[in-house]
Amino acid sequence: MSEAIISSAEEPQAVNAYGWAARDSSGILSPFHFTRRTTGRNDISMKILYCGICHSDLHFAKDEVAMTIYPLVPGHEIVGEVTEVGSNVTKFKVGDIAGVGCMVGSCGSCGNCTRDLENYCPKMVWTYNKHYHDGSITFGGYSDKFVVEEHFAVRIPDNLPLEGVAPMLCAGITVYSPMRHFGLLEHGKHLGVVGLGGLGHMAVKFAKAIGAKVTVISTSPNKKKEAMEQLGVDHFLISRNQEEMQAAMGTLDGIIDTVSAPHSLTPLVDLLMTDGKLILVGAPLQPPELPVFPLILGRKSIAGSATGGMKETQEMIDFAAKHNITADVEVIPMDYVNTAFERVAKVDVKYRFVIDVANTMNSPY
Ligand code: NAP
Ligand code: ZN
Ligand code: ZN
Repeated sequence: MSEAIISSAEEPQAVNAYGWAARDSSGILSPFHFTRRTTGRNDISMKILYCGICHSDLHFAKDEVAMTIYPLVPGHEIVGEVTEVGSNVTKFKVGDIAGVGCMVGSCGSCGNCTRDLENYCPKMVWTYNKHYHDGSITFGGYSDKFVVEEHFAVRIPDNLPLEGVAPMLCAGITVYSPMRHFGLLEHGKHLGVVGLGGLGHMAVKFAKAIGAKVTVISTSPNKKKEAMEQLGVDHFLISRNQEEMQAAMGTLDGIIDTVSAPHSLTPLVDLLMTDGKLILVGAPLQPPELPVFPLILGRKSIAGSATGGMKETQEMIDFAAKHNITADVEVIPMDYVNTAFERVAKVDVKYRFVIDVANTMNSPY
């Protein structure tokens, strides 16, 4: 066993950490010193290598969610190298590559936790902006190191480029989970994907890998050529083109809606065939209008879904490894993050920014 193994329940101590934090609702990030707990018996510590920029990071940094606790260190698409393991840890050893997504804790005993649905546990602890069991506020992956219970980390196979793996820890599982749960990740199914961003392009990749047909519904005509030629999208509809939308009515088994801003659901419900399902994963802040008649007249459903449990997250990573799937990313240095936020807000990224944390964080100690 490695010398780095922690063998006793020492008094929890703090280790210095360094990251970038938002301090107010401007959402502008700047360098930030803080502490993390030392490696506990069930914990692994990681040197963060890459962290993706999820649109949720913007929602939180700017307090669009009206629940931000400042200073906020965002980042929940984390890939890192294990530097230390607690004495109870069995899944990892020093030097392994681990991934952490949207959550770092849950109660472990409720009906959701016992069904591997920790993501729906009422006591689930987000990776940032939440109170951890010990009362501390969680800080995310725009930082040099991370400490997490091994249960909330997944193993990353060595055949995948790590910068492309990071976004799968949130964007990937957030679309994979409902696609599996609602029977849409199946050969021959016809899936609609609304919004070709970080989440949306992952949904396309999973669907194409399994042999499903994919229609993208987008506001961005400039994404069409690449989507069809490189992602293998079968049909690309511009949502404001009523002729195109009308011609596609009643054709889709299900839709994954990833749009981050308010938009009408009625034209999407119209695209569904009888018994079709519209799954909302995007998180616009205003409630949508609910179209009742189009639902009734086709026995259609609208549902929501939030990330995925740990077992399913590992399954998703293994599925991705088998099918050679990673996110399409633009790798950026840490100090580009504020420009990256502006570009995400302007829908100017194909399809995910990933921060090269290990090489550009420039820790001052
Ligand atoms: P993203 O990369 O910015 O992609 C969102 C896409 O939505 C854009 O690429 C764009 O696609 C479309 N869009 C943006 N503004 C729009 C507008 N005003 N009207 C219509 N379409 C618009 O964001 P993301 O990281 O994929 O996240 C998407 C949403 O999911 C965010 O709200 C995020 O907070 C949420 N989220 C939810 C969960 C969950 O657990 N449910 C997890 C992660 C993220 P086109 O250019 O193709 O139109
Ligand atoms: Zn996210
Ligand atoms: Zn629970």
